[in-house]
Amino acid sequence: MWIERRKTKTIYVGDVPIGEKHPIVVQSMTNTFTENIGDTVSQIKELEKVGCEIIRVAVPTKKATENIKDIKSKITIPLIADIHFDYKLAILSMEMGADGIRINPGNIGSREKVKEIIKAAREHNIPIRIGVNTGSLPKEILSKYTHPTAEAVAETALNYMKFFEDEDFTNMKFSLKGSDIKTTIISNEIFAKKNRYPIHIGITEAGTVLSGAVKSATGIGILLYKGIGDTLRVSLSSHPKIEIKVAFKMLSSMELRKVGVDIISCPTCGRCVVNLPKLALEVEDALEHIKAPVTVAVMGCAVNGPGEAAFADTGIAATNETFLLFSRGKIIGKYAEKEAMSKLIKEVERIAVEKSNNIY
Ligand code: SF4
Repeated sequence: MWIERRKTKTIYVGDVPIGEKHPIVVQSMTNTFTENIGDTVSQIKELEKVGCEIIRVAVPTKKATENIKDIKSKITIPLIADIHFDYKLAILSMEMGADGIRINPGNIGSREKVKEIIKAAREHNIPIRIGVNTGSLPKEILSKYTHPTAEAVAETALNYMKFFEDEDFTNMKFSLKGSDIKTTIISNEIFAKKNRYPIHIGITEAGTVLSGAVKSATGIGILLYKGIGDTLRVSLSSHPKIEIKVAFKMLSSMELRKVGVDIISCPTCGRCVVNLPKLALEVEDALEHIKAPVTVAVMGCAVNGPGEAAFADTGIAATNETFLLFSRGKIIGKYAEKEAMSKLIKEVERIAVEKSNNIY
């Protein structure tokens, strides 16, 4: 592997291992009201379909927290309860079967209340994600650094680490987030050098799909290149399904995970006589169910298309009225648009089965 991952211990969220010896885990967060079981379960099921490996839900109320049990019985991936302010909801979440909890010890109220959470997590053998961000640093840290610097974020996380260790609790991972990419990267770098706990990475409140994906790819990409990150969430103001797609694209473009179909489509030029962006999207949607790593090209012309996409497993290239279907660099047929699309889907499914069976 061209990237050397930081050495970290393994923790388990449900049956999903998180740590340097395991694939980087992709997670997301529901944006439904957890009080509404039906909406929340149906969104989690959509996310499971596109490969989400851990789901986090907000539990701002007693009702939402009590619903964890019901929600868990209807989904297959581990569930993390996201708690702010109320330590009793953290404890109740664990009693309701949450596989992990996420807290910011700084907003729980007192050290005694955090100790109660630790005690319950130990009893239930549940990992805690300790989240630190620039918006909620302790007063003493803020007066030391005068404003929320990367050093301030890292020192806060290290202080929490020591507090939890002093309570004899080590089943934890950390997330350090700044309001900008620079603070996030530097704080994670400082923190990462001083311990072996897994780190959850992400760029908080990254924005809408385009700007959020770009900011996330930049920030998360740099951290991953530095070997930091055992699990990640891409945060977007959009359907969380998109977060999962962007996360896997990011990991697969960095050769850290190979999951699902990678569409290669050309930018088009004066040779292209079809609506290529539309076709590429249709192919992407139709192949959402494929989990094996298959590279699929959708090219705008037959002159350069197959050559430009020679590395793809299969693909189509438009000619004036027909499409060439190619596989493993060879042309295997010539069809009108509708038939070309259905033949391409079948060819991808065939290759996916081969890859899943490790035939080559
Ligand atoms: S594949 Fe053809 S249409 Fe697409 S950019 Fe290349 S030359 Fe242009």
